Amino acid sequence: MTPAPAPRAVSLAYDMNPFDAVKLFFDRAADHIGLADEMREVLRTSYRELTVQVPIRMDDGQLKVFTGYRVQHNAARGPYKGGIRYHPDADLDEVRALAALMTWKTAVVDIPYGGAKGGVQCDPTTMSEGEKQRLTRRFTQMISYILGVNRDIPAPDVNTDAQTMAWMMDAYSGRYGYTPAIVTGKPVELGGSYGRDAATGRGVVYALAEAAGDLGIELDGAAVAIQGFGNVGSWTARLIGGRGCRVVAVSDVRGGIYKEDGLDVQAVYDHVRESGSVVDAPATERITNDELLELDVDVLIPAALDRVINDRNAQNVKARVVVEAANHPVTPAADAILQDRGVVVIPDILANAGGVTVSYFEWVQNIQQFRWEEDHVNDELRKTMSRAWKNVHDRAAVDGIPLRLAAFAIAVEKVERAARLRGYV
Ligand code: NAD
Repeated sequence: MTPAPAPRAVSLAYDMNPFDAVKLFFDRAADHIGLADEMREVLRTSYRELTVQVPIRMDDGQLKVFTGYRVQHNAARGPYKGGIRYHPDADLDEVRALAALMTWKTAVVDIPYGGAKGGVQCDPTTMSEGEKQRLTRRFTQMISYILGVNRDIPAPDVNTDAQTMAWMMDAYSGRYGYTPAIVTGKPVELGGSYGRDAATGRGVVYALAEAAGDLGIELDGAAVAIQGFGNVGSWTARLIGGRGCRVVAVSDVRGGIYKEDGLDVQAVYDHVRESGSVVDAPATERITNDELLELDVDVLIPAALDRVINDRNAQNVKARVVVEAANHPVTPAADAILQDRGVVVIPDILANAGGVTVSYFEWVQNIQQFRWEEDHVNDELRKTMSRAWKNVHDRAAVDGIPLRLAAFAIAVEKVERAARLRGYV
């Protein structure tokens, strides 16, 4: 019999597996609150991990087999909830990490959900609409046995959007009857919520505004750089101007653009709609994604992929505040470096929780078969983000710990309490 591989030493290097990194953040919180070992074992790993084969007939007649995942981390506080990502690098460890982050995120903002995540390893940029639709329908069918309005409710994430959710909803409804509440982030015409599309970016801006108020950071005239110009990055860019900030740089997978006195964000958005990229937007200078992260700005907002701020570049980050709009954009090694250098990091499980918060509002509206006005959605979102920020900030101040540890400590305590009340352990 081949001996089992030795457990991998936890390294703080750039290439630390994302699930190890999330477990490290969890372990630090568990140590801080003195969590019992038996409970650690329950909360460190996923409840259920489903890997499925997704065969699709491509437009050229070839059959291609994709691999898809749905990981359900914990449902002590409510149904599993989390997005679906289409990306060539999507793998089980990444999906596990993101599922666990969802458990902690829903607890930080105190909405009645657990955590899950899904993904399909594919490159949607090379696929036609028909191929993406067939992939989505088949994947939905494969994972439908573990979904449910009171069991597990997907949403959009990287490279998936309202259209993807419409296909998922239709595929699920074809099997189980009309079920709009099975996914959130749907088009408004199909029961989506007003304000959901902008919600993650809006929540990022609310979190930054709250932090600025409490930490004495002047936002009026502050220079901001945003990596990623998809759902989260572009909405953040469009809304942050309302706080007096100047967006000096944005980027996407093809590269970045810079303008010292501030980009015309609407013009950049229009350029993206025409050309598919921010690159070469009129009256801007070209920069690389690496350069964007090291710009001399007041606020840096990674809003693309994970681990972009790591032990190779954290020393060069000049921003005073990093707002984690993406999930897990800062590795544990980089987190320590930023902390030593006095950079404030608003952690992902707080900063980008606006998306899942308005997803919750969408689910509530679907169940009640009632629609809220957009102002009402945004107002409830603001209150949720403000409460969550206050709890995290107060906990950090009282315990003398960084914001990330405070957020994890609050979340782990909430999930532990729910698990005990339910008699899980
Ligand atoms: P998206 O697919 O809409 O946009 C992703 C953006 O990142 C695009 O502009 C893309 O070009 C860019 N990008 C991709 N690879 C890149 C690279 N290597 N370098 C630089 N830029 C790159 O995705 P999204 O929904 O905006 O999600 C972005 C991040 O926010 C992810 O980490 C996601 O998990 C997180 N998030 C999303 C939501 C949501 O509601 N959509 C909620 C919470 C967190």
